[in-house]
Amino acid sequence: MIRTPMNNTIKFTVRQLCTTSYVPRVCVVGAGPAGFYAAMHIAKNIKSIKIDIIEKLPVPFGLVRYGVAPDHPEVKNCINQFTKLAKQENINFYGNITLGQDITLEKLRQHYDAILLTYGAEEDRTLSIENETARNIIAARNFVGWYNGHPRDRNLQVDLSGSRAAIIGQGNVALDVARILLSPIDQLKKTDITEIALQAISESKINELYLVGRRGPLHVAFTIKELREQLKLSNCKTIWRENDFIGVEEIVNDLQRPRKRLTELMLKSLKEQKSQACDSNEKSFRPIFFRSPNKFLVDNACVNGIELICNKLLGDKLEDQKCVATEDKEILNCSLVFRSIGYKSIKADESLVFNTSGCVRNENGRIIEDQSSEELAKLYVAGWLGTGPAGVIIHTMSNAFQVAKNICSDLQTGTRCRKDGFDGVKKYLNIPIVDWNGWEKIDEYEVNQGKKSGKPREKVTCINKMLDIATK
Ligand code: FAD
Ligand code: NAP
Repeated sequence: MIRTPMNNTIKFTVRQLCTTSYVPRVCVVGAGPAGFYAAMHIAKNIKSIKIDIIEKLPVPFGLVRYGVAPDHPEVKNCINQFTKLAKQENINFYGNITLGQDITLEKLRQHYDAILLTYGAEEDRTLSIENETARNIIAARNFVGWYNGHPRDRNLQVDLSGSRAAIIGQGNVALDVARILLSPIDQLKKTDITEIALQAISESKINELYLVGRRGPLHVAFTIKELREQLKLSNCKTIWRENDFIGVEEIVNDLQRPRKRLTELMLKSLKEQKSQACDSNEKSFRPIFFRSPNKFLVDNACVNGIELICNKLLGDKLEDQKCVATEDKEILNCSLVFRSIGYKSIKADESLVFNTSGCVRNENGRIIEDQSSEELAKLYVAGWLGTGPAGVIIHTMSNAFQVAKNICSDLQTGTRCRKDGFDGVKKYLNIPIVDWNGWEKIDEYEVNQGKKSGKPREKVTCINKMLDIATK
């Protein structure tokens, strides 16, 4: 054992760690897929370890619970793996604790050997154009949160009484929003969509939904499975603009396989639309390309249209092509707009340094620090906070495993001080904390509420109610 002259902290080398059977303490901040998958990997590879997962909400699972669309229940199966892990004796879940608000990173670092930040990307990107804050211009992030029961979005005001709406952006979130708005209501009734959203969507008058992309059909960010689902919706016709596809058929065979198949599907749908009769009762889904929003038009502080700039593409290589504005503009009249142009991470703690891509500065998940101290926990980042807000759960999983592997390797080498983990942290916290047992009570309550209306669950959307149920 070594006593440091500065503060008398007892340090252990690796060999001593083993012989004195010291159990390293790891803290994971954020209980989404990145946090759970990383914890799973660490727990599997270091048997003698304690992992505490700290989460802002009283409930776990991040975007698996609050992002994944309610009509995609199979995607949420990873929850079973996470639950099994959380029930292990050496894994603890502590909900209702927000990093940066209830506890600082500095304080956490004093009580753990390693801290892994996996708190995701909680904000959305904005367009920074005129009238963007007008009524009925809704961030897709909030709309998704609203239909999925996120407490942050429970009071979202969205007016679905107009007949025409537009979504800006052509990613999978945009397609989720479109599908939820255009699906037959009987299909949604069987899901865990919130009752308030179900009611509002059942009364929705939207029958024309535009999907506005700034580049061309070869650049859409959505994937084939999601487009196929959209094309198959009953009582909804997809209408493409033929001019947007000039030259596409000629190069489709040169594309890489996933892009080729996706483009072929769009071309097939375009051909089919010509031979289909128009039914005025049908809803329509209308992707349009080469258009960037320039400003929103408003009436009485509420959106009533978008001024779009017509773009052309510059650059030879497909993947690098950028859109450039032309002199031409057009107006799309609509009474509701969803902005779905991606998410972004925030600085939960002042000490964090972000890179130019909006992620915590890191090298293979190890946070790059200008100065570090042996007395403090090493810092790591995984998931969307470290990679940027792109990729599906499986991508997040492989990133989390990779970072966890580095954590394991660092924990098995080097020198560190004896840490007390959550026992040391809880003295700073003057808030109700929800443990796994508390979450299980909320879970049971939600499932029981759902049974009353034939749904898998009815989510509790109020934090205070969650806390009441968890602490009963
Ligand atoms: P998150 O899942 O966001 O988890 C972050 C966690 O950190 C959250 O629980 C949050 O509450 C918590 N947190 C935030 N701030 C703090 C703080 N200060 N202190 C403590 N905790 C904090 N992928 C698929 O494979 N299939 C899909 O169908 C699919 N649908 C999606 C739908 C939407 C709308 C979105 C946005 C994404 C979807 N994805 C889907 C992608 C998938 O959700 C992500 O890959 C994955 O959730 C990223 O995991 P994460 O752990 O990095 O972040
Ligand atoms: P995304 O895939 O990055 O798509 C963002 C879209 O917004 C793109 O079409 C992009 O166009 C456009 N955009 C960006 N900035 C813009 C601007 N200033 N003006 C106009 N358009 C702009 O983001 P996302 O849809 O939020 O999805 C995030 C991740 O979650 C993705 O990896 C997605 O696959 C995943 N996800 C998966 C599922 C699923 O599997 N079912 C569901 C939801 C989300 P450019 O290409 O021109 O930049």
